[in-house]
This record gives sequence, C-alpha cells and structure tokens, in this order.
Amino acid sequence: MIKVAIYNEYLHEKTEKWVADVYPEGIHGQLKKVLSDEFEVTTYTLENIDELTEEALQNIDVLIWWGHMGHHLVPDEVAARVRDAVHGGMGMIFLHSGHHSKPFKLLMGTKCNLLWRDGDYERIWNVKPSHPIAQGIGRFIYLEHEETYGEPFGIPDPDEVVFISSFEGGEVFRSGCCFTRELGRIFYFQPGHETYPTYYNEEIIKVIKNGINWVYSTYRDHKGLDSHHVKIPTTVSEDV
Ligand code: ZN
Repeated sequence: MIKVAIYNEYLHEKTEKWVADVYPEGIHGQLKKVLSDEFEVTTYTLENIDELTEEALQNIDVLIWWGHMGHHLVPDEVAARVRDAVHGGMGMIFLHSGHHSKPFKLLMGTKCNLLWRDGDYERIWNVKPSHPIAQGIGRFIYLEHEETYGEPFGIPDPDEVVFISSFEGGEVFRSGCCFTRELGRIFYFQPGHETYPTYYNEEIIKVIKNGINWVYSTYRDHKGLDSHHVKIPTTVSEDV
C-alpha cells in the first residue's frame, strides 16, 4: 500500500463554527476517511508539524498539503525538508490554498499569486483526458460552490495541465497542474475551500486518488542527488 501523509494546518476548523460544521474532524480527518480504503494514511497538523522529520519524510511515499491562514507558522526547516524530500523522489500534492505554502513556493521558485474572490459555481474542465490523473473523470466536474481562483497564476509553466476551471464570473484557472522537480512529482489541485464540502465529492476524491498514484514513485534517493557523484572516464580504452 502506498503510504500517504496528510498535512492540514487545522486552524479554520477550530476557530470558525461554519467550517467545523463542514469538517467536524478537520479537513485531514475527512481526507483520511475517504483515502484509507486504498492507501495507508497518517495525518499531521501544525501541532505536530515538527514530527515531519527527515526520517519521517523518508517513510512517506506521498505527502498531501492543505494550509491557508497558518502558512507563516510552518517552520522554515520543515518547508526545506519537504522540498528536499520531493527532490529525493517523494510524491507531493498541494491542495487549494496550498499554492501559497512555503514548500510550494520553494519548489516553484515564484510567488505563486493568483486572483481570487468569494464562491460561485465552478466547472473543472478535463483538458487532458488521456492523463492518468484524469481517468474516470468525464468532460468536467461541476461544483455548486467553490472559491473563485483566476489567472494569472504566478507559477512556472507546468509540465502538464490536466484541468482548467471556469467560474460563474467567467474567470479561468489552471486548476490541475503537474510538475517534476529532480526525482519528485508534484500535482497541484485547486478545489477545496474550507467552507464548502468539496472533499465529500466523489469525483474530487477520485482525482486526488489518481494524483496520489501519479506522483508516487518507487524510486527514492534518500541520500540526495549529491551522492550521485560518478567519475566519468576522460579517455576511451583502446583494448576493445
Ligand atoms: Zn480558500
């Protein structure tokens, strides 16, 4: 079984009743519930984020990240360790406002800003039906309520864009983006504002599951790429 860890800062659910009503066990609790049938799932929150040690990360196949109001509370060392783990082959999925998280910005190298406003309906268009992450998904996923995110999205051009969303106001957004950083694969998936029941939607969960399988790699370099120092012969042997 693929070992999945979910990090959710777990702040909105504890401070805002309308969020707790949607996610009584936290966003991480809901994600764990719907992912546990196919994956071995553990969870982390800001309270135990220090437990995301180098050793712990080495034993995580895929890390899912949900954060928003507490991005600044994530220690820089943890963010750097997550980046290094991705470079070493750990799979990574950033959800929704994870676009402004420290590890995402480290991995992208840009500010990752975007346009946003309050909720409307969203259509998540499947623009790459042949992609593994789009399997089982039709032409689009419809969400009655989701926060509007719009372009320009300040990321480097993704390797592949699997979903582009449109919103009631006509905004469009690259809502499903794939990246590779050294040995690691990254999937950014936009839906999941804390006040809407997005992570109860079966199609959204299907995409996250496909995403886990896509970012997962059996090849891990636990020592870092620097250990791959290979002496390249400078002369060609003549004894053929
Ligand atoms: Zn949001």
